[in-house]
Amino acid sequence: MEEWNQWAEKVKGCSKCGLCKPIKVLGIGPTPCDLAFVGESPGEYEEKLGKPFVGKVGKLFTKILLKVSFVREDIYITNVVKCHPPNNQTTMEASQICRGWLYEELKMVNPKVIVLMGTFAAEAFIKDCSGINSVRGNWYKCSDMEDYINILPIYHPGHVLHGGGDRAEDIIVSDLIKVREFLWGVGVRGNPIKSVKINSKLLGGELLVGENGISLADLWLNVKVNK
Ligand code: URA
Repeated sequence: MEEWNQWAEKVKGCSKCGLCKPIKVLGIGPTPCDLAFVGESPGEYEEKLGKPFVGKVGKLFTKILLKVSFVREDIYITNVVKCHPPNNQTTMEASQICRGWLYEELKMVNPKVIVLMGTFAAEAFIKDCSGINSVRGNWYKCSDMEDYINILPIYHPGHVLHGGGDRAEDIIVSDLIKVREFLWGVGVRGNPIKSVKINSKLLGGELLVGENGISLADLWLNVKVNK
């Protein structure tokens, strides 16, 4: 945590690009953590609350996570760019400069899998990436960081709200089942997940969700009651 705090102080003082603002929205979640999600840049609401993915898109993101039994509090969530850009227009300059902070951040998180949400995040890790459609759902290795971490690009949850609709949501869910399968060996694509064991700090440790365990609906209720 000490290291993370030192990193956070450095980022808060950053004024290296044209998008820099005094308020930075840093990543949130346990450190270290097996699973990290990377988005594009914080929106207005994120800037207000100082946390990533807490606005309209963030609520949808949380709902999608629960569909595959990922509890938000147990994963690390961050963005490529740490300042809210005017009109949500993130620039390439900001991305290139902020990437340095992101790589340092992810080294401390030390995830087994990094999920990249949308083209902007995918481009920060995958060389010659020509848009999210050409890479989503495929595993890559991350060579920009010391250890070769597994990365999976997926659609940005905002895409569901901006034209992608239910189909895009289903594709995100099926991609995330791959992540679950990779990390915990359950939920083969095309087959329903019968049960999954999750380790939730929020809900007091390990619990079984699905067959012979609590239902996804109960998990959702518990998460809400415990918040
Ligand atoms: N909120 C975030 O924090 N990041 C995004 O990319 C979108 C919404």
